[in-house]
Amino acid sequence: MKAVGIIGYKKSGKTTLVTNLARELTKRGYKIATLKHIFQAKHLDLPFKDTARHMQYATQTAAISPAESALFFNHRKSLEQIIEYLEADFLLVEGFRQEKTFPKIICFKRSWQVKELFDGLQIGAASLAHPSKMDLGVPVFNIQEDIERIADLVEGQAFKLPNLNCGDCGCESCYELAREIIRGKKNLEDCPALKPETQITLNGKVFALNPFISQMIRKTIVGMLSSLKGYRKGNIQIKIEDK
Ligand code: SF4
Repeated sequence: MKAVGIIGYKKSGKTTLVTNLARELTKRGYKIATLKHIFQAKHLDLPFKDTARHMQYATQTAAISPAESALFFNHRKSLEQIIEYLEADFLLVEGFRQEKTFPKIICFKRSWQVKELFDGLQIGAASLAHPSKMDLGVPVFNIQEDIERIADLVEGQAFKLPNLNCGDCGCESCYELAREIIRGKKNLEDCPALKPETQITLNGKVFALNPFISQMIRKTIVGMLSSLKGYRKGNIQIKIEDK
């Protein structure tokens, strides 16, 4: 899944941009997921009173209505853990300013706000006002009028690194590689964790493996199988029921 962050101070147009982008990208045939960082309140609003009562003692609560479904956890999950539950081509992340594994569009009301939010991952800046010609080193858009151009930018530049910080790409962290990709010095192919030689699916979902573990599993299994009569190189699939 490719991701882009929409960040900015309060009332800078983040939600309007997420909504407009989701509409435009859906129109282009993509499946869109959105994720919002809520920091003003400790608890999320639950849609039904009964659901909130379930949550008093349950670790997970699900709700299904004729038109919608929801799944709540009674603890905080990381962005990567939540992504495992999402199925989409693009993820639009509102907030999560501290996350450093995907490019960002900075929403702003006043010009001084923009550069404060630059962390090397910015690919554009957007405002509800009509920004005068500003030299920010990134394209500057109007959130309402330039939505097609912003969607083009997201289509071309969105990505998500795994946040394993394993260093196998030669960078100290995923953040460093993300900045290099945005600067055009490297690309996604430089992250071996995104195309592991070993892939494990757990209950139908791809299980994140760092390159070291991926190689260890591969070598162990291939080593054992290659000693068996009839072994040939190729695509190996093993299914294990751990019940
Ligand atoms: S190889 Fe991938 S997962 Fe590991 S640090 Fe580099 S970008 Fe992050």
